[in-house]
Amino acid sequence: MDNCIFCKIAAGTIPSKLIYEDADLIAFHDINPAAPVHLLIVPRAHIDTLAGCDDRQTAMLGKMLLLAPKLAQEHGCGYVAGAGETATGGFKTLVNTGPDGGQEVYHLHMHVIGGSRPWRGQR
Ligand code: AMP
Ligand code: ZN
Repeated sequence: MDNCIFCKIAAGTIPSKLIYEDADLIAFHDINPAAPVHLLIVPRAHIDTLAGCDDRQTAMLGKMLLLAPKLAQEHGCGYVAGAGETATGGFKTLVNTGPDGGQEVYHLHMHVIGGSRPWRGQR
């Protein structure tokens, strides 16, 4: 897509703070972080929204989900399992879809948001 900012980041024609790349996905720091850790996982292929996905994207969507805890771990907000209150860390994953879903960039992406319970106070 010619005029898509995430396609341009994937192509390397505009800069980003890239933290991960493979044949299907890239990940980089959100330019306007909402929390101490705010990462975006983005497929290289242009797809407008989650609602535009179908069976052809099953594997790619699975890769996006499985990458989230790995990147969270690498950025200090991984989930450490424990019994009850002994569990620590954790992060939020978010895919905004459409205007009422708060989507601003119409190239599918998943937010990975971590820090000190960053969703508190945002409701
Ligand atoms: P959404 O509202 O889910 O579409 O989120 C789009 C996100 O992309 C926002 O959190 C923006 O801060 C982020 N964003 C927009 N442009 C850039 C950019 N050039 N580099 C990194 N993040 C960006
Ligand atoms: Zn795009």
